[in-house]
Amino acid sequence: IPWRSREVRMGVFPMGVDATALARASAHADVEEQTRKWRSDGTVRLLLGVDRLDYTKGILRRLLAFERLLERVPELREHVRLVQVAVPSREDVQAYQTFREHAEALIGRINGAFATPSWVPVHWMYRGVSHEELLALYRAADVMLVTPLRDGMNLVAKEFCAARVDDDGVLVLSEFAGAASELAEALMVNPFDVEQTAATYYRALTMPEDERRDRMHALRQRIATHDAERWATRFLDALDSITAGGHGCAPTAPDVLAALAARIRAAPTVRVVLDYDGTLVPFALSPELARPDAPLGTLLTELAARPGCEVHLVSGRGRDNLARWFGRLPIGLHAEHGLWSRPRSDIWVGGPTVDMSWRAAVDPILEDFTARTPGSLIEEKEASVAWHYRAADPEFGQRQARELHAHLTELLSSLPVRIVPGDRVIEIRPHGAHKGTVVATIRDAAPAGTLLVVLGDDHTDGDMFRAVGEDDIAIQVGSPGHGAPYCLTDVAAARAFLQDLLRE
Ligand code: UDP
Repeated sequence: IPWRSREVRMGVFPMGVDATALARASAHADVEEQTRKWRSDGTVRLLLGVDRLDYTKGILRRLLAFERLLERVPELREHVRLVQVAVPSREDVQAYQTFREHAEALIGRINGAFATPSWVPVHWMYRGVSHEELLALYRAADVMLVTPLRDGMNLVAKEFCAARVDDDGVLVLSEFAGAASELAEALMVNPFDVEQTAATYYRALTMPEDERRDRMHALRQRIATHDAERWATRFLDALDSITAGGHGCAPTAPDVLAALAARIRAAPTVRVVLDYDGTLVPFALSPELARPDAPLGTLLTELAARPGCEVHLVSGRGRDNLARWFGRLPIGLHAEHGLWSRPRSDIWVGGPTVDMSWRAAVDPILEDFTARTPGSLIEEKEASVAWHYRAADPEFGQRQARELHAHLTELLSSLPVRIVPGDRVIEIRPHGAHKGTVVATIRDAAPAGTLLVVLGDDHTDGDMFRAVGEDDIAIQVGSPGHGAPYCLTDVAAARAFLQDLLRE
């Protein structure tokens, strides 16, 4: 988000729990002993809810679904009970007091209707519990009910899984909890649908042991890898990447630019490395419309004709596109962020030598989103794949793209791929191929002492900026900074700067 003279970045950092510590603590003998107490004789299955007493947590609907279950499946009576821990919250607020009254009245109704001399269906604990007691409850539960109407994440869901060192227990999870996008092996419910929720409780209670273990095993693995440590590291890394050059950049003063141009003109050998879209031409409604104009062709040709000077175009576009537009110019072309290169001939070298096995994980996700987003489409490139949503309903497309991005980032983080959001497109491509490697190759092929001049506008160009040496010149076009020390305000300024290099 551009904000005054700088760029503000927002990120999504799904929080994890300290899975190792929770597992260790829940295997402790004291917890085991308390777990046995909660399980008592083992004939009564335990459903568990642990929440702050807050209207967002879905406690009333959770109770209604439990009532419905007891009505619909009388055999379960006396064989199942719901323990609800409700941690007092905002007790000074009248609405919370009223909410508590509603919950307790509902519990009174359920217990009044179904209780027998030896059994009470709902066990209500309006208080906080100790860490050990909490872990014992997690371990004793047959089914954990995490059914908020809305929740940013919900840590209870993750803690429950982390505590289940026995790899057993079923998690029933609201699709409206943030955790749902990570915990796919839980049984998902829409908490507003009381009938369906009751049916899901039944499914959880009757789930075969093999399936319970398979699901819990997968959940626990994800919680162990996506833990609090990883969350903190990702957050700090994102922060570092900003202080390391993600700041916005102020336009470089004219006299400084003039001095840079003079230095470039005076250098015996120069390599001018240019991004195309956003640097040499403005963005157009569709990529096909951003075709080069005649003056640009002349400018690049004249620049390439200067003694000791080579011009290279490094673009995310495909090689057919670049060859069609620039094939006849005496410049080096580098397509798909450097996957393909034709330094100064008609023959492309390079190609997908990189590992493409990640496609097996990515393709089904893209197909799923394409099926669910009318107007979206998958574009196959040689080493990458892109999901376009330009033709989708703008608002829905944007929302789906956000979800797809979060989904891919979270679930594919261990794969050797980069997820690169663009203008109404999300591209997924292998790690190795980035523009920085092109800059390194150009430098290696040039005589010693060659001056590199790099112009780019977006974060894929940041890879180029990072690849240049201290004595080289990296220039940002446009205001959000990507690590270059110099800045030109827009495409027109970039072209004027290049034009200035032609002066004698
Ligand atoms: N918790 C607690 N005392 C209790 C029961 C639970 O401190 O008696 C903790 C629980 O372990 C979890 C947190 O409260 O870490 C609740 O976090 P969550 O994200 O589930 O919900 P929030 O209350 O933040 O909306």
